[in-house]
Parts: sequence; C-alpha cells; structure tokens
Amino acid sequence: MQINLKTPLLLWHNFKLYLKRFGKTGPETLKTDSTNSSSYMAGIHIAFDKWEKKALGWVPLKSFKIYRYQAILIILVVLITGTVRIISTETDRKNAPVQKYAYSIALTFDDGPYPEYTQKLLNILENENVKATFFVIGRHSKKNPLLMQLIASRGHEFGGHTYNHQNINKISKQKLLAEMQDTQNIIEQTTGKKTSLFRPPGGKYNKKSLNFISEAGYTTVLWSILPKDCEISTTKEDLIATVLKNPKNNDIILLHIGTRVTLEALPEIICSLRLKGFKFVTISELMDGISAQAKENRYVYLKKT
Ligand SMILES: [Zn+2]
Repeated sequence: MQINLKTPLLLWHNFKLYLKRFGKTGPETLKTDSTNSSSYMAGIHIAFDKWEKKALGWVPLKSFKIYRYQAILIILVVLITGTVRIISTETDRKNAPVQKYAYSIALTFDDGPYPEYTQKLLNILENENVKATFFVIGRHSKKNPLLMQLIASRGHEFGGHTYNHQNINKISKQKLLAEMQDTQNIIEQTTGKKTSLFRPPGGKYNKKSLNFISEAGYTTVLWSILPKDCEISTTKEDLIATVLKNPKNNDIILLHIGTRVTLEALPEIICSLRLKGFKFVTISELMDGISAQAKENRYVYLKKT
C-alpha cells in the first residue's frame, strides 16, 4: 500500500474549493435529498463536474482507496496506542505500593482558639489531610465563634478544656461542673457539635476529680506523648525528637494551639509518623479501637510521659 502523506492536505484543499463553489449549503441539485448523507456525499462529485474542478484548480487524488487505507491505519494506530496506554496505566496502578497504616495516632491541640495561630495551624492540617481534636477553652471559644466554625468546617473534633482554664483540683465540684458544661454549651452553640470529651487544664488532675468527671458523663482524655511545646526552652528539634522517640499504636500527642514552635515542627512530625506507618485519627476514632474497660471507665490514657 502506498502511503501518500499529502493526501489529507489535498483533500482539505479540494474541500475549500468545493465550499468556494457551492457555499456551506451544498449543491442546489442535492438539496431535495439533503437528509441522506451518503447520497449527499456522492452528489458532490456529480454536481462538481470535471471542467469546473479543472478551472478552480482541483487537485485529483490518485485513488480514494489510499485515503481509506490511511484512515484505517491511523485509526488502528490510535486504538493500539490507546489500548497499550490503558493497559500500562492499569498495570502501574495495580503494581503501585498500597499505602497501609499499621498504627493509629491522635494529634490533640489544647487551649484557644486564638486568632494568631489557629488559622495557620488549620492550614497545615488541611495541607497534610490530617484530622485532629481541639480541646478548647470556653471563654476563648465564645470570643472567636468564626474560628470555632472554621475548625468545625475542616472536620476536626472538639473537646472541652474548662471555661477559664481552671486547675480542677482547686475548685469545687459545682464550679467544675459549671466550667465543663458552659464550655460544652459554647462549642455546641458556635459549631452545632456536641461533645463529651474533656481534658483537664495544665495537666492537673487527681483520682477524685477524674471520678467526678466520669460520673458527670464526660470522657477524660489525657495523653501519652507530651512534647512540652508551651515551654520557652523547647525547640522545634526537641519537639520533633520527643514525638518520634518511641511512638506507639493509639498514642495521644498533646500539643497547643498557640505556639510558633508547634507550627514549625508539625509538617515534619506528620510526615515522619506517616513514614513509620501511623495514620492520624480523632479521639473518637481512636476510642473505637481501645479496650472496653477503658471506655467503661471513661478515661483515655492515664499515663503521663
Ligand atoms: Zn491548657
């Protein structure tokens, strides 16, 4: 088969001549049968006589067969390359390493929300596609309802951290209950989300207060990794080293909303933990995987590090 690469160009040249001669409506003689496309095409040759073609500069094609073979060849090449590409993409997808996470870990952020840092923190979590749990202070939540809504809109979870960041060992049961209830109410009013999670401020708690909180229907969420990001002497490197020292399944990392060093260290912490096989979960998700006994006690992690 002879392949004439000029054929498409010649066809285009002739088609332009045809348009010049008849316009876009086609030959008058064919208008009566314009619905029948095959006879319309055949009619082009009948209506466009030899003399006219010569006068206009029509370039005769050696054989329409060549064009037909070329078209078939082009279609075959397109089909074969397309199929090969689809097959290779499928194979690549099947052979691609499946990201499997062997362990769960929860990022938790205490205090705030504060306008200065919360949005930056939320952006980091959004970029990394991580959902976390925020233990917010009641009075700050009331002052910053838009920040609360932003946290909620990004799919994070809330817990209470008292209304005034109180040392729960030093207040009456009645005051403690009001501190917790007021905070939980503010969370619900600003975000529409109910929560029974609670974290005592400043790491201060005793067995008596934890029992009381449990009886009041709240789940006390403590921590298992404490990088002390609130202390001025803690550097980004210290923070990363503490978290990555010996992370275990179902660990809870306690960080704070309002520290620069936390924002600096967070992307590396998230990336390194993922490489170690950890997936990030909220406290509720983590609790789904803990023992029935821990759920019954309404405590999560009593161990401090
Ligand atoms: Zn706090």
